[in-house]
Amino acid sequence: MGSQTFNIAALAGDGIGPEVMREAIKVLRAVEKKFSLRFDITEAPVGWAGIDAAGQALPDATLALCKKSDAILFGSVGSPERDPTIPKAERPERAALMRLRKEFELFANLRPVILWNELAHICPLTKERQGDGIDFLVVRELTGGMYFGQPKTSEDFGDGQRRAIDTMVYTTSEIERIAHVAFRAAEERLKSGVRRKGKVTSIDKANVLENGVLWREVVTNIGTQYPNVALEHMLVDNAAMQLVLKPTQFDVLLCENLFGDILSDEAAALIGSLGMVPSASLGAAKENRVFGLYEPAGGTAPDIAGKSVANPIAQILSAALMLLYSFNLYDAHHSIVEAVRNAIVAGQRTGDIFNPADPTARKIGTREMGDAIVAAL
Ligand code: NAD
Repeated sequence: MGSQTFNIAALAGDGIGPEVMREAIKVLRAVEKKFSLRFDITEAPVGWAGIDAAGQALPDATLALCKKSDAILFGSVGSPERDPTIPKAERPERAALMRLRKEFELFANLRPVILWNELAHICPLTKERQGDGIDFLVVRELTGGMYFGQPKTSEDFGDGQRRAIDTMVYTTSEIERIAHVAFRAAEERLKSGVRRKGKVTSIDKANVLENGVLWREVVTNIGTQYPNVALEHMLVDNAAMQLVLKPTQFDVLLCENLFGDILSDEAAALIGSLGMVPSASLGAAKENRVFGLYEPAGGTAPDIAGKSVANPIAQILSAALMLLYSFNLYDAHHSIVEAVRNAIVAGQRTGDIFNPADPTARKIGTREMGDAIVAAL
């Protein structure tokens, strides 16, 4: 394993992207040494940085680099203030991120939502609702459903009335492949630090939507292939409530695209700062390797960009997910998560997770947090 090289395309993007990417690369270099691995990391511009460098949010050379890489470590793109004359379709959010998702058919979005006890103060829920800490995984279908279904139109009837149509479409195979991702994740019990509890909660609206009926049937069928995983179904409206009433009941939440978009942001709010939430967007497994794009759940944070105060943990944990899902480096993944946890336990806090009432907490900047995590490795 020591001689194997993993090729990584590092696309930092805009705003805080380059600041937090620097820290993630620093951590990867430390992991490389510790585990005698070889990461071939190539940085390339994307987003407004891509437009500035090559006239495109996803320059051809950046896309070419991604195609020959084993995984993409992505920062964030977008700057709402920049040049309003550039149409939406050419702006970074669509022209870079949506295009990459499509290009690599990244149909599975995974977002681990973990609240450690030391950070209980950043959770908006009362202590008793947090139990012994929150720890679940949202698995969201990313390339189907209402966002892509046809017809998708807007008509003008000319009498002051308009009509907009979006269509929710899922096929059996689209549901099957995302269900497999969720069941496999739920089975990852105690596999080198991934502490799943062997339970999938599948979210749908089977009482009203035909899509919900199909979703429930197909997920139930796939569930029979995973006898070690408990499956429950939950209506999406109830799930939205249960996430704030009793988030500790969840292990893996399986959602279609629209429901997953909403519930995964609600879930991220439970841990108080976007700076703590990583994500993985995965394609189909080929020869035991999964191509993926790994990025923080948050955006470019224009309000704090350039000040060296952004929390790099979401970016660093995204790099850790890359080691887990694309490279099968379980021990290296685990050691990054433990190092992050140890830095938190030792009281290191960026501004977004700092509690002035905690006498053990020390407020530090982006670089110092990266250094603390490297030191804890
Ligand atoms: P945002 O996520 O950038 O910021 C929301 C809030 O969270 C801000 O207060 C910000 O300071 C804070 N925050 C986010 N990440 C943080 C971190 N690492 N450390 C500390 N605080 C952090 O959302 P927004 O302001 O709505 O969007 C800004 C830009 O980012 C927009 O152009 C948007 O389109 C883009 N965006 C990009 C992505 C992506 O690239 N995947 C995702 C979301 C938003």
